[in-house]
Amino acid sequence: MTIDWLKPAQRLGSLPPYVFARLDELKANARAEGVDLIDLGMGNPGGPAPQPVVEAAIAAISDPASHGYPPFEGTASFRRTITDWYHRRYGVTLDPDGEALPLMGSKEGLGHLAMAYIDPGDVVLVPTPAYPAHFRGPAIAGADIHTIPLRAENNWIIDFKDIPAALADRAKVLYFNYPNNPTGAVAPREFFEEMVAFGHRHQILLIHDLCYAELAFDGYQPTSLLEIPGAKEISVEFHTLSKTYNMAGWRVGFVVGNRHVIQGLRTLKTNLDYGIFSALQKAAETALQLPDHYLEEVQLRYSTRRDYLVKALATLGWEVAKPSAAMYLWVACPPGTSASDFALLLLQKTGIVVTPGTAFGEGGEGYVRISLIEDCDRLGEAVERLRKANIRYSSVPASV
Ligand SMILES: *Cc1c(COP(=O)(O)O)cnc(C)c1O
Repeated sequence: MTIDWLKPAQRLGSLPPYVFARLDELKANARAEGVDLIDLGMGNPGGPAPQPVVEAAIAAISDPASHGYPPFEGTASFRRTITDWYHRRYGVTLDPDGEALPLMGSKEGLGHLAMAYIDPGDVVLVPTPAYPAHFRGPAIAGADIHTIPLRAENNWIIDFKDIPAALADRAKVLYFNYPNNPTGAVAPREFFEEMVAFGHRHQILLIHDLCYAELAFDGYQPTSLLEIPGAKEISVEFHTLSKTYNMAGWRVGFVVGNRHVIQGLRTLKTNLDYGIFSALQKAAETALQLPDHYLEEVQLRYSTRRDYLVKALATLGWEVAKPSAAMYLWVACPPGTSASDFALLLLQKTGIVVTPGTAFGEGGEGYVRISLIEDCDRLGEAVERLRKANIRYSSVPASV
């Protein structure tokens, strides 16, 4: 029942409906009708967290010392593990006291950073398509959002020519993300260098989301923004344990980089939350210290699925680029079919759930994102369903 005299705050009205929530509704209906859904929609990795992480969590939960409020800024030992990890992976030196902050998942931090640094009317640059938290956080904060189009012709990398200098001078914050969700694109080191120069030239806070730092294949090594000289003066970088370590439900991430920016975020957060349960911070330390063979296993798992599905889709007329990182295929809709119509068609005719590209902003129109979160058997079943329903790259009708 609605309360007719009670209106939600205006900032809620600035938000378009969360596409995943809408998709959940349609999925629930299909399930209620007994459809065996193959859900390749959300980037929610299947399978448990690594056994040593689960064991560390159990041990830490059994310790009464972890039951109280955790420190606001995260445990010293988790912060130290984060900065050691950064040094080991990227050769970047960070101060665990002030340049690293644990988060209750990176989405939380991305959103709250917007609250901490963006006033109504501030100009914020966000690529389109983009991970929703990159534009929803600023939208809640009342930002004047200007989108930067990502294009297939430019390998989904930001083209600085798309940002007029006058706009760049007015901009306060820029969000970006490579390896990229949803497109799977990666950006060369020169791009990061150009970005840092751009940020300095126009005095823009750079927010980089490096959530796929470790999900990279065929020897490709993602770049950390903080590897670039001068980056720390104007930027922060976000990470998550959700994807690499199958810990999406645990809600553990972190942000590193400029200490003043992190201090601002911390100040806001001390008014809103107490951070992550200490026992989970202990477990997260174990995850970041797992031997490299664990990463190799995860990478092989996703690259095997990628190779399998790219090949199988080719037999149905799809030419899908093989991403060198992340856990998604970014698949063009058949000509004349919109992203949401195509996603709906797949759900209704085959029980396959994918995410319409428009969930990531208008720049995702014409594409759907397929998450590689099921094993090859299940992906094979999905392709068989497509074949039986005669859904091919060139033959789908223009509307549902
Ligand atoms: C999955 C994802 C996240 C979410 O991270 P949480 O730590 O689970 O909140 C953040 N950024 C991108 C680009 C993602 O794909």
